[in-house]
Amino acid sequence: MQVGVLALQGGFAEHIRLLQQLGVQTRLVRLPSDLDHLSGLIIPGGESTVMGKLALASGLMEPLRVFAHQHAVWGSCAGAIFMARNVDHAQPVLGLMDIAVERNAFGRQAASFQQALDISRLAPRVDTTLAFPGIFIRAPKIQPLAQSVKVLAELPDGSVVAVRQGKWLATAFHPELTDDARWHDYFLADCRN
Ligand code: GLN
Repeated sequence: MQVGVLALQGGFAEHIRLLQQLGVQTRLVRLPSDLDHLSGLIIPGGESTVMGKLALASGLMEPLRVFAHQHAVWGSCAGAIFMARNVDHAQPVLGLMDIAVERNAFGRQAASFQQALDISRLAPRVDTTLAFPGIFIRAPKIQPLAQSVKVLAELPDGSVVAVRQGKWLATAFHPELTDDARWHDYFLADCRN
């Protein structure tokens, strides 16, 4: 099994590091042909407006949509915005998931925060005894727009910060900036199926 990480900009190296730690073969995705024979794709955090422009310029928009309709795809932060159907800002997005996102909903870079997240909804795929250290950097708020979107994690105030829809996963925070591989582990189960 080989898992790709979209490497146009942003935190792709951190996702690669965690995947390799889990013994998974990885590939940087910069061109449509880089998607060939992958079992899944991670879209990293970064700046979703820039990511969208670069994806357009690289001819990746349609190939990414085609790939996503057959495979597991996970977007973290900017990646989640890039996967959303509704964004509160005009910018190129894949428009895959039935979610609305409000960009920078928790404030600017200086308002970044860490929050222990209850991830018990990831059981039994991963050990959920301990909370997950959620790192939020100019994170979006996520609003599900369809019944098929399942909420996986929320902040104590009820803000939705992780969802899945079929084999698509979106997290407003950055598991790749921790040494805790449970979200990666969870996603890999969808890549294998
Ligand atoms: N606010 C950024 C955006 O809109 C995302 C920030 C991040 O990925 N950490 O793309």
